[in-house]
Amino acid sequence: MIEKLTSRLDGVKRTGPGRFVAICPAHDDKNPSLVVTEKDEKILFHCFSGCPPAEVLAAVALTFADLYPERPTYTKGRRAAQFNPYDVLKALARESGIVTLAAAQVSTGHPLTTADADRVALAHERLRDAALLMGIRL
Ligand SMILES: [Zn+2]
Repeated sequence: MIEKLTSRLDGVKRTGPGRFVAICPAHDDKNPSLVVTEKDEKILFHCFSGCPPAEVLAAVALTFADLYPERPTYTKGRRAAQFNPYDVLKALARESGIVTLAAAQVSTGHPLTTADADRVALAHERLRDAALLMGIRL
């Protein structure tokens, strides 16, 4: 992760665990004055000559978005964790069971009552909503 930045810098020297100094790309640097560290998977850097972080990044063609990317997988995982998979599958099985029963009844020549037809429509809605929740468009 930190290599994303250090690989673009000159004069990189490791000064400790997850800690480097390098030539600052944003000013005419004679002695390495850019400190780069990695902490909790975050890249932190500081130019001791006072270059603004955005200029340091721009000088190596990076943006803050490159260093601190959003993590859709993490967010997705957290969102999915709100649902107990067992409960979700049970609910989906019940709804699809209702649709199956209705189909069997209709196929044997017995029309659905209005109440049953409404319940099938509700089952369809719930199954569609479940798919939408997972990002699937039916
Ligand atoms: Zn600088």
